Amino acid sequence: MAKDNGPVCRKCRRQAEKLFLKGDRCYSDKCSVERRAYGPGMHGKRRKKESEYLIHLKEKQKVRTVYGVLESQFRKTYRSAEKMKGVTGNNLLSLLERRLDNVLYNMGLANSRAEARQMIGHRHVIKNGIKANIPSMLVYKGDVISLKEKSKAVGKFKENADAGKRREAPSWLEVDVDNFKGVVKELPTRDTIALKVNERLIVEWYSR
Ligand code: SF4
Repeated sequence: MAKDNGPVCRKCRRQAEKLFLKGDRCYSDKCSVERRAYGPGMHGKRRKKESEYLIHLKEKQKVRTVYGVLESQFRKTYRSAEKMKGVTGNNLLSLLERRLDNVLYNMGLANSRAEARQMIGHRHVIKNGIKANIPSMLVYKGDVISLKEKSKAVGKFKENADAGKRREAPSWLEVDVDNFKGVVKELPTRDTIALKVNERLIVEWYSR
């Protein structure tokens, strides 16, 4: 499976905002955006006038980076969003939000979406009583997500759950962090997705 192994914090610095890609570190004073509030590279401190092209590209890259999706997969998700009823931008965000790795992160059981992907890949996660090992798998209304019985005793996952309690879960999920369990109450809509992004710019990017 293809992977983006580039330096993670540079992605936040390029966007000039915290994208919370590294778990605990993002909440500490070690965060690179806080320590070096300028773009990466030797010309990072120069003020750049942003073209329309760059504004659109940055918005698309921001969403792709937050959800940890490669370009080909992101484009595929966009094409699916286009075919759905309703507003394409909202559909796109809803599809990304429904990814199993994102759900696990939003439940507070993983420190980051990258860690959630690893947990799923290592078969610690159960969806509706069946082991789930595909991070991009979508969740549906009524789905029950939990950790495997044996995995609930893993020290790291207990620490994750303790840290996860400090983050508020989205309203479309019902979460019982103490029992490492969550239920999809309803499908996410734009109003229940907290990500600050202008999805219209992404639609315009792919409609060029
Ligand atoms: Fe981004 Fe987290 Fe790195 Fe800060 S620590 S720059 S929020 S990934």
